[in-house]
Amino acid sequence: MTATEYEAVPAVGPDSTGAQAGTPEARCVVMKFGGTSVADPQKLRSVAARLVGAREAGYRVVGVLSAMGKTTDELLALALEVSPAPDPRELDMLVSVGERISCALAAMAIVDLGHEAISLTGSQAGIVTDTVHGKAKIVEVRARRIHEALDDGKIVLVAGFQGVSTTYEVTTLGRGGSDTTAVALAAALGADHCAIYTDVRGVFSADPRLVPDARPLRHVSFDEMLEMASSGARVLATRSIEVARSHNVKLHVRSTFEEGIGTWIEEEDDGMLEKALISGVVHQREETVYHVEGATRARLFGALAEAFVNVDTIVQTGAQIVFSAPPEDRVAAARTLDELGLEWSSREDLGKVSLVGAGMKSHPGVAAKTFATLEAAGIESPIVSTSPIKIACHVPTVDVDRAVRALHEAFELGG
Ligand code: ASP
Ligand code: MG
Repeated sequence: MTATEYEAVPAVGPDSTGAQAGTPEARCVVMKFGGTSVADPQKLRSVAARLVGAREAGYRVVGVLSAMGKTTDELLALALEVSPAPDPRELDMLVSVGERISCALAAMAIVDLGHEAISLTGSQAGIVTDTVHGKAKIVEVRARRIHEALDDGKIVLVAGFQGVSTTYEVTTLGRGGSDTTAVALAAALGADHCAIYTDVRGVFSADPRLVPDARPLRHVSFDEMLEMASSGARVLATRSIEVARSHNVKLHVRSTFEEGIGTWIEEEDDGMLEKALISGVVHQREETVYHVEGATRARLFGALAEAFVNVDTIVQTGAQIVFSAPPEDRVAAARTLDELGLEWSSREDLGKVSLVGAGMKSHPGVAAKTFATLEAAGIESPIVSTSPIKIACHVPTVDVDRAVRALHEAFELGG
């Protein structure tokens, strides 16, 4: 066996083995395609053509693919048909297959277009993760094999959403994890940018299915996008934006199916600040809200963290602690609270509407207008939380759509 050289994400700069940095030949691009973009053989062939187009334009090209269409959902359902509580290791072995299928097929299509290609599993691509099955975090990227393939002129296809743990097990990164694979690779390879190809034209001022005059946004800062994603915008996995921000990887979200300028997500600049008081209104239809009595904070949140519950809002006044977490974490949260022997209750009838905008930092009155708008619409909001660039209001699930439309209109975000 030969020893592998370790390449931590932060340590890896632009290609050291490739052509000279700065020349078009040396520029690397990571192009990620979501499940709808690779849903059938015809779509896979168009994705192959796009990757070849970038290669012919002189880029070193890495494609990161999701599983075809609903494959991941189907594999998860299949597991549940066999076992009510699938073994986490075996579940990762199973669901990681979807992305391998897409990559192998795309590589075949690229070869037919007269170019060289190689598909790699997450493990072969050097994506090393921690040992948490189903929710693993990337700890480093050992990009040597990718560099070698790129040096040989190949288009490299990497199976998204998966890696190999420090104990040599196949792991997956959680739903939407292919975004994180793509951004981590872009960071490790010193890519020019990371293009995220999806079934929408970019990031919008609100969900266009809810708000017909929602506007596509051209530029969004990392901080805004992070707030939007963690508050319900589904276009990018939250974790991928954290990785992009910490390694300053520019993201370009664009449609696979139509030409267009898409949305750039990058470091905030002064131009952005002047433009966007509010960039968008995002929403979540469901978020479980817990009320807990008589717990010490450190013990409570320590135990929830150990159970991998993703706590969102925390509000404490006096002895009562209120916090929210996604519905998928409900079982783990309930088990933890019971194990701690706490008195607790939860509400399942709330969702959340959040206004996000970098310009909020320097403009008073946004909170006032938000509350006035909800009040005028007759929508109650039992919990409000803020960050410097976000105002989040928990509202009844049945009122979420109305709240989004009312706020989008009140702040004149339409195009
Ligand atoms: N196929 C995985 C999922 O559906 C990963 C991804 O598409 O990003 O969550
Ligand atoms: Mg996705």
